Amino acid sequence: MPSHPERQIARLRARFESRVQELGRLGFVLKGSVVQTYKRCSSPGCGCQSDPEKLHGPYWQWNGKVNGKMTSRAVSKEQLGRYREWMEDAQRFEEIAHELYDLSLQANELLRELERQPPARKGRGSSRRTRSRP
Ligand SMILES: [Zn+2]
Repeated sequence: MPSHPERQIARLRARFESRVQELGRLGFVLKGSVVQTYKRCSSPGCGCQSDPEKLHGPYWQWNGKVNGKMTSRAVSKEQLGRYREWMEDAQRFEEIAHELYDLSLQANELLRELERQPPARKGRGSSRRTRSRP
C-alpha cells in the first residue's frame, strides 16, 4: 500500500488540470487521414489508359467519416496545412483524453483505498471529498 495516497491524489489532480489546460489550447479537431492518390481520367487515348499506365497526380485526398459514412475530399496544396494541423490536434485530443481517463482511474483506485480505511481520520481535510459523495 502506498504511504501517502492523499499526496498521490493531489499529484494526479495537478496533472489532470494541466492536461485539461492543454486541451483548451487545441484548435478544431478533424479525424481521418490525408493520402496521396493518382487518378485515371475518361478522355480517350490519354496516357492514363495506356499500358503501362501513366496516371494523373499525385493528388492529396482526405478520407474520413461524414455523418457516419466514409467520405473522400480532394485537398488542395493550400488546404493541406490546415488539414494536417486539425488532424494533429485530433491526435493530441485523443492522447489527452486517454490520459485523463487513465489519471481518473488511478485517482479512483487511490480514493477507494482511502475510503476503505477506518473512519478515524474523518474531519481532517475531508471538505474536498464531500463533492464525490451523493
Ligand atoms: Zn488521363
